[in-house]
Amino acid sequence: MEYGKPCRRCLSREACGEDLAKLIRERIAGLPEEMKADEELYRKRLSACLMCKDLIGGMCAKCGCYVEIRAARIQGYCPAAEKKW
Ligand code: SF4
Repeated sequence: MEYGKPCRRCLSREACGEDLAKLIRERIAGLPEEMKADEELYRKRLSACLMCKDLIGGMCAKCGCYVEIRAARIQGYCPAAEKKW
């Protein structure tokens, strides 16, 4: 995969390829169950990120986190001033 122009409004798989997406999935799978957001909440959060101008290459430009990991934590929150989730 060629890296160059940042990819806006896409998640890790589209932005950086399957290797990074796999690492992120493994990181999420390793979270203790009590720390994980349920699937509905997780999808809702990612839907907000996918509409957000601050999503770049699967990362949030506000905090530098991979949004899939941030959204997977029950205590995760959107760092934007307007708190999108
Ligand atoms: S600012 Fe919020 S909605 Fe936008 S990418 Fe970051 S976490 Fe997602």
